[in-house]
Amino acid sequence: MYYGFDIGGTKIALGAFDDDLTLRWETRVPTPHASYEQFLSAITGLVAQADARFGIKGTVGIGIPGMPETDDGTLYAANVPAASGKPLRLDLCARLDRDVRLDNDANCFALSEAWDEEFRHYPLVMGLILGTGVGGGLVLNGKPITGRSYITGEFGHIRLPVDALEVVGRDFPLTRCGCGQQGCIENYLSGRGFAWLYEHFYHQKRQAPEIIALWQEGDKQAHEHVERYLDLLAVCLGNILTIVDPDLLVIGGGLSNFSAITERLPGRLPRHLLPVARVPRIERARHGDAGGMRGAAFLHLTR
Ligand SMILES: [Zn+2]
Repeated sequence: MYYGFDIGGTKIALGAFDDDLTLRWETRVPTPHASYEQFLSAITGLVAQADARFGIKGTVGIGIPGMPETDDGTLYAANVPAASGKPLRLDLCARLDRDVRLDNDANCFALSEAWDEEFRHYPLVMGLILGTGVGGGLVLNGKPITGRSYITGEFGHIRLPVDALEVVGRDFPLTRCGCGQQGCIENYLSGRGFAWLYEHFYHQKRQAPEIIALWQEGDKQAHEHVERYLDLLAVCLGNILTIVDPDLLVIGGGLSNFSAITERLPGRLPRHLLPVARVPRIERARHGDAGGMRGAAFLHLTR
């Protein structure tokens, strides 16, 4: 059995997957905040429950928002203060007496999709999250590429490319990003960015779901907005796809529920790519909220 933990600021979710990668059991507990000891006990307790349930010593993978292991072997996760700054992986390896693997939640999302039954034959899979933020991960032959600092796939923090200004205008304001830089694409392509663009061009405050509802009703302004958003997304992806050249691009996050994105994006891409480049297959993410647990569990899979 493969156990996958999706750890966030409020809950720890555990999913147990069998050899066919089917979810056999899942449970969740609140994330302890009072002490590291309680945090470790919460995880070891859930593993003990799962081991007892299946009569087997399952493998353990963990997805967590942040940097799973810094240079000194400690976790950095601002939303999980009880464990941040602690050598979580090594402590769990010792207590559980098995190899425990950690990765960040965006890589787990990409890994979960890359192991989908229909997708797993693709050598290079790119996961892109268009949600509260913009992020993602790369999976090569069934394994996530983490990079030196787990930054691989942090697509949201590359800056707008020069040809983006042809879409949004040369006097377009470059927003200061939470990361400290100016003009990061996350500020325009996330769900929040989608709404920000609408307000910038039409001086009307509307949330993304409201704009999408207007689009569905055939509203002219909403249509113009969505066309512009898709043009901007295509321009930004032109640069990313030229670096990555994946076989498959899977899009997740809240905005991926808006099917116009995956349907209308492919036709826009070729003019932003090299003439010989082939547009990857583009699909919506299939595993939604379960993706965190799945990807964490599948950190132990090999092709
Ligand atoms: Zn940024």
